[in-house]
Amino acid sequence: MDKINRERRSKNMSAIKSKNTKPELIIRKYLFSKGIRYKVNYKIPGQPDIVFPKQRIAVFIHGCFWHQHTCVDGHIPRSNLDYWEMKLRRNVARDETNILKLKKQGWKTLVLWECNINTDFIKEALKIIKLMKNEKSIIAANKRKNEMNVQQSF
Ligand SMILES: [Zn+2]
Repeated sequence: MDKINRERRSKNMSAIKSKNTKPELIIRKYLFSKGIRYKVNYKIPGQPDIVFPKQRIAVFIHGCFWHQHTCVDGHIPRSNLDYWEMKLRRNVARDETNILKLKKQGWKTLVLWECNINTDFIKEALKIIKLMKNEKSIIAANKRKNEMNVQQSF
């Protein structure tokens, strides 16, 4: 490979990478602006993009192509069909396995898709906020119940 090709290739690669990370940054920024704090790079199956450890909520933000959304972007390329089919099917299978593992460990999972975020990111972010607030109030209610039980046992 000559130098120009190599440079162009690395430029393409970084363009692809930044395109893939953008939707999750939009969502993270919005949550942060609403005072909602979350974890990234949290070491649980599938490395979800946004994690609320206390509420045990894991949010995945999926690129429609790589994770095969049922939208127009989730198509398999016609050239190299066998290669792409195998690769993308493996991605989908891995996603399913990770979500199963998380559910077994008591996590609630939410998958958001890039195309929906591009259309209306606030709507998608609100799905997270709603789920998170629900879990928060359940945790608080359980805590109150436990405290009451403690008081009653005296
Ligand atoms: Zn999509």
